[in-house]
Amino acid sequence: MSNIKDITDDFLSLFLPRPCLSCRAHLVRGEEVLCTGCLLAMARTDFHSRRDNMLEQAFWGRCQVERAAAFSVYNRGSRIRKLIHLLKYEGRQDVGRMLGGLYGSVLSGSGFMDGIDMIIPVPLDAARERRRGYNQSLCIAEGLASLRGLPVRSDILCRTGKSGSQTRRGRYERWENVEGLFTVRKSDLIRGRHLLVVDDVITTGSTIEACVNALHDAGDVKVSVVSLAVAQKLTL
Ligand SMILES: [Zn+2]
Repeated sequence: MSNIKDITDDFLSLFLPRPCLSCRAHLVRGEEVLCTGCLLAMARTDFHSRRDNMLEQAFWGRCQVERAAAFSVYNRGSRIRKLIHLLKYEGRQDVGRMLGGLYGSVLSGSGFMDGIDMIIPVPLDAARERRRGYNQSLCIAEGLASLRGLPVRSDILCRTGKSGSQTRRGRYERWENVEGLFTVRKSDLIRGRHLLVVDDVITTGSTIEACVNALHDAGDVKVSVVSLAVAQKLTL
């Protein structure tokens, strides 16, 4: 049966070519969203295989994080920036799931996912999620969870208010701005667990910091962090 499906897919792709979202080349069987060449060319960090990597160091003294890693580096011309734009602003939830799945297999292969009990996406504020129709971090979390069948819970960490624009604020003010922004519900479900918090991009780390602190305040937990991308300035 699978042969018939493959033949049908190949036949359909003659008429409905699927372009690579980065270089527009036609995707072949087995490729999703990006062609193999663009996937291999994407700038990746090696954070998952290094303890005390630069992202982990960025949280030192701010919140207690077991491990932290990001798939790629976010800067002006980076491929990941374009892909995250599609995920957030053009409805391409499949991009988040594909990249999450890809990163999940990288992380699993390195032992980074060992001991993780539950995946928790960073929540959006309710109005923004209503406008967008979905939370992009949940798409990434679902991709990350797929290989190991880990539970993804978006009903534990809640965003209680709306953060103001952060673009013109200094680091201290940003921290002030998100402190107390998140609360935890159903804290009995996380007690004693190792949680993996997932975001799309880590820019200053202050959102993640507020999430991690809220989870620690709610119970006896370990928290690790991953994102699809980290701003270049955080890794310098
Ligand atoms: Zn391509």
